[in-house]
Amino acid sequence: MFEQALPLLQSHFGYSSFRTGQEQAIQSVLTGNNSICVMPTGGGKSICYQIPALILPGTTIVVSPLISLMKDQVDALIQVGIPATFINSSLSFQEAYDRIQAAKQGEYKLLYIAPERLESPEFIEDLKYMEIPLIAVDEAHCISQWGHDFRPSYRHIQKMIQMMPQRPRVIALTATATPRVREDICNLLEIDERNTIITGFERENLSFSVIKGQDRLKYLLDYLKKNDKEAGIIYAATRKNVDILYERLRKENINVARYHAGMGDAERAREQERFLTDQASVMVATSAFGMGIDKSNIRYCIHLQLPKNMESYYQEAGRAGRDGLASECIVLYSPQDVQIQRFLIDQSSDRTRMTQELEKLQQMVDYCHTESCLQEFILHYFGEAETEPCGRCGNCTDERTSIDVTKEAQMVLSCVIRMGQRFGKNITAQVLTGSKNKKVTEMGFERLSTYGIMKDKSTKDVSDFIEFLISQDLLAIEQGTFPTIYVSPKGKEVLLGNQQVHRRETVQVKQVSKSDP
Ligand code: ADP
Ligand code: ZN
Repeated sequence: MFEQALPLLQSHFGYSSFRTGQEQAIQSVLTGNNSICVMPTGGGKSICYQIPALILPGTTIVVSPLISLMKDQVDALIQVGIPATFINSSLSFQEAYDRIQAAKQGEYKLLYIAPERLESPEFIEDLKYMEIPLIAVDEAHCISQWGHDFRPSYRHIQKMIQMMPQRPRVIALTATATPRVREDICNLLEIDERNTIITGFERENLSFSVIKGQDRLKYLLDYLKKNDKEAGIIYAATRKNVDILYERLRKENINVARYHAGMGDAERAREQERFLTDQASVMVATSAFGMGIDKSNIRYCIHLQLPKNMESYYQEAGRAGRDGLASECIVLYSPQDVQIQRFLIDQSSDRTRMTQELEKLQQMVDYCHTESCLQEFILHYFGEAETEPCGRCGNCTDERTSIDVTKEAQMVLSCVIRMGQRFGKNITAQVLTGSKNKKVTEMGFERLSTYGIMKDKSTKDVSDFIEFLISQDLLAIEQGTFPTIYVSPKGKEVLLGNQQVHRRETVQVKQVSKSDP
């Protein structure tokens, strides 16, 4: 069976060879295994079930949450001569009925469905009359509570599989799998973890960086001016931010498009089209934009505000440089964004998910404060163990010298201990800088020996320094309505003088020297 795979890739899809992981995934499916395929966005996951669908008898079911993409995917298949269709809420009752009848006649090789469809007992009944060799679960992390996009309707997939007279094999596909999510997917879909196909998450043409302590708008305008020949995406946290930035960029005569969920369908489609066809060079959008878009020449992806977690970040940033050419992924960090994200999490999630989402947010904050390789930070997050510094990111190319900040670190750590290890970052910074803030005096903190020992620094700088200590695992966070900080085991070693702490000179120093003529 497997010998047919390469000729099919060439004849139907027009590609000369497989990409990393595709062959292995196809082989695993054709052998009859339940499998999980973890590849970065743009890695070519679709081929991993489309080719088996062509080879195996019957109709492969593809479960996908992205209704807006189904039509495009199906159209693309039909164009290359593969009979396929989709059923989702965009169809009339009659259209859906007709397609189900045709599917029962075996007229399609692939049938795309939205997970909600599986909640209908009639549809499950219909499936029993189809020959189904394979079920492809796209965006499989949606099945896991630990994932960043849990969808309860995905839980119906297990029931569907159990009810089929002939057990189809399963292939789960995702771009965002932390080890915990991966384990969850395997348990829920009965996949032997040995049948995991995971391709490197490193994107060798992307260079990551984090910009701190600068005027964001000014930075952005400079950047756009320097890169005015290139296409790029700017992600903003809210619809309002998108609208404001959009108007601002228009004033600068920049050819800009915008996209967010508050716009009408028609306008959104028009704006997306303008960007995809290079009529607009800059897309300003919320995270609603980008799922499945196939534009290869995106040269940069800038996050105006902090993304809510690493999964979302890597997915969004990963839309840059799909053509393999060097591209930049930049986060413009400002500490107040953390408050905004915390607020959004507070508003939207239940108790159990909240702690977990706050932890994910903290890792995003750590990303912004680490001084090690950013690409490595990402790879470690996704569970890759053996990595090397990329040599391209903002940290790898940072030429500022490291200075010994062990003494400052000890000041902070000992202050945290003296305060009882049950207060937040900001009040700790206020105590260290000798603030006369009401809460500080009310708690009697001005009597601590560490009160004011860093008064030559601003509260903001000390706050930043505390974030840095958190990113170095010297301080840890206890999540809750108010996050509090405590000294980690590694931090205790620093207090005991058994370990030193180094930090690059602060951004302010660099700015001054840069503006020197
Ligand atoms: P994913 O679902 O992993 O994000 P897709 O399946 O949409 O990725 O594929 C991303 C792009 O790569 C598509 O444009 C696809 O046509 C292309 N592609 C997939 N496999 C190959 C291959 N073997 N050779 C060249 N291009 C490929
Ligand atoms: Zn690096």
